[in-house]
Amino acid sequence: MSAAPALALPELLAPAGNLEKLKVAVHYGADAVYLGGRQHSLRARAANFSEDEVRQGVAFAHAHGVRVYAAVNIFAHNRDLDGVAASLAFLQEAGVDACIVADPGILRLARQHAPGMPLHLSTQMNVSNREHALFWQEQGLARLNLARELGCEEIAAIRKAVRCGLEVFIHGALCIAYSGRCLLSAYFTGRDANRGDCAQPCRYSYALVEEKRPGQYFPIEEDERGAYVFNSKDLCLLGHLPVLVALGVDALKIEGRMKSVAYVAQTVHLYRQALNWIGGQQARGAGLESLTMPARFFAELANIGTRGHTDNFFLGQPDADDMLHGSARLAQSSVPAGIARTAEPLLVEARHTLVPGDRLECLLPERLQPLAARITALHDADGRPLAQARPSQCVRLTLAPAVQLAPCTLLRKTPHR
Ligand code: SF4
Repeated sequence: MSAAPALALPELLAPAGNLEKLKVAVHYGADAVYLGGRQHSLRARAANFSEDEVRQGVAFAHAHGVRVYAAVNIFAHNRDLDGVAASLAFLQEAGVDACIVADPGILRLARQHAPGMPLHLSTQMNVSNREHALFWQEQGLARLNLARELGCEEIAAIRKAVRCGLEVFIHGALCIAYSGRCLLSAYFTGRDANRGDCAQPCRYSYALVEEKRPGQYFPIEEDERGAYVFNSKDLCLLGHLPVLVALGVDALKIEGRMKSVAYVAQTVHLYRQALNWIGGQQARGAGLESLTMPARFFAELANIGTRGHTDNFFLGQPDADDMLHGSARLAQSSVPAGIARTAEPLLVEARHTLVPGDRLECLLPERLQPLAARITALHDADGRPLAQARPSQCVRLTLAPAVQLAPCTLLRKTPHR
């Protein structure tokens, strides 16, 4: 019997919180990136992009065959609408490949002021059934980012019902509220999550106070730092990638425009390698249903900072095991050491204290396993010898073995060194 034809791999869609992260995502193999302007996107505290940076980001991404989507996905009050029309017109003129919208009012403005721009529906609209998906398809949306509360059978049913593109989150932070439509932050801090300014109170440590004993805090769970009652583990669908490819979703999205350069580098690198592995297996005639992601991918996953991992609703209803109650985050097995700025000489912006003798791992875009190297000498940018480099300092590294590292390459090390 002949093998089933190989299915096209979905687009790998990466967060770009600023221009540096966009370049890092491109370097590690993203097919597309999403970014936000200085207003109207749901990450008010990310650095975001000025108009000039949007143009630079689009030019850089397009030169590497990577698409750029711009989030204009706030739920706007009237006062938030100032400038939205001009922003939308600008994004179209700048060559952005699609806008991500949620508020139907902003969708309407996009139709008027950026009529040629494809529109993607944000996960904030919580598309969770086929009729909902059909509605937005009829409104002409090119792609729908599905609600994060869906199981794989629900995704399959929606896939069968619509022709428009479907996008699924595969990795990143989760809200305890319905796809982020949450009032906790506005209630506790006055910062509105639905206008991009969440203070993340679901990650705070909580305690119980008896009204006649003010100032005496009783832990809700037995932990000296308090109780993280609302703190969801992070989404990770790495083990389900073959199923997601088989379902025929068009794009796999990584959450995290507020996350670090190292997070962007490592998540894009990991999922690029994983998708390439699936593509390679398909090319050899393997059926997707028989594929299991090898352990080496999960070993690499352990290097990425996390609150622990959950597959959320993908296989069924999440329970208490999908929350991280004991702490805000888990310890990391490695930390970022630096980002390469130039290859020759090897100029690195340190992200950690570096000293000669440090053993580093260089994350290369063409392979899963990092390259091990040791620092044999450190010099400042003018060539003067250094005993150590401080975080954010640009230094010349001499490594053994001598390796050529392209700009944007992430170097990391174990925290105790
Ligand atoms: S407070 Fe937590 S659950 Fe609510 S929007 Fe912010 S991150 Fe999401």
